[in-house]
Amino acid sequence: MRIQFLGTGSAEGIPTIHCDCAHCTRAKQEDGKLVRARNAILLSLPRYELLIDTPPDIRRSLARHGVRRIDGIFLTHSHHDHSGGLEEFLYWKAEVDLFAEPVVYETLRREDWGDRLPEIAFHCAFHPGMAIRFDGFFFTPFAVHHKVPCFGLALYEDGRKVVYTSDTGKRFSNYAYCLMHQADLLIVNTPRFAPPHEGHVTSLEAVELKERVEAKRLVLTHFNHHNLPHDELEQWAAGQVGVTIAYDGLVLEL
Ligand SMILES: [Zn+2]
Ligand SMILES: [Zn+2]
Ligand SMILES: [Zn+2]
Repeated sequence: MRIQFLGTGSAEGIPTIHCDCAHCTRAKQEDGKLVRARNAILLSLPRYELLIDTPPDIRRSLARHGVRRIDGIFLTHSHHDHSGGLEEFLYWKAEVDLFAEPVVYETLRREDWGDRLPEIAFHCAFHPGMAIRFDGFFFTPFAVHHKVPCFGLALYEDGRKVVYTSDTGKRFSNYAYCLMHQADLLIVNTPRFAPPHEGHVTSLEAVELKERVEAKRLVLTHFNHHNLPHDELEQWAAGQVGVTIAYDGLVLEL
């Protein structure tokens, strides 16, 4: 399995619009890994390319990273930084599946372009806890605590398990803890570095989560400009066990 991080910023991205904080100023001056497009991940699976989320930056992110094939989209939730680029797929000249929970799908249908959703993608409805089986792998969505209905997924392929929590508070269901248990890779969205942060796991809390579920490796992503700049995050991660800081373009092979 190949995992490519197309965007690793949270809702605002980095640099943030109309912001002159030290982090955003460095990002504007130095570019590179300090700049983060909004959140998207591409999973290359046996005969299936699965894109997680369609942020407003998706057109540029797909072009920048040379993505030519997508078979399906897993949409975690309706927030703009995760779904705002879905309309771009009106211009994607191939059939795409859209894995979206029914309430999330109906929310998107209420957008002014929402009546064109069936043109954009074939809706494959899911419910948390079900296994969506493919030939050679499967994934199971699970509900997380967020301001709107939101779903992570546990992906099983060739004896390995990758879990992506998407946007979530630090409280999880016991069911979600079971799915995360001993994951080979646990990917967590952590806009800020340290608590308190209303509604989102922080980077420090994600390390506690990794220990609790005995995940082998933790990848942090979905950072905002209040978090540390990428180089400082990497310095911090070097003192942890099995923690990777995602950046736009990072590719992991599992
Ligand atoms: Zn988000
Ligand atoms: Zn800033
Ligand atoms: Zn969100």
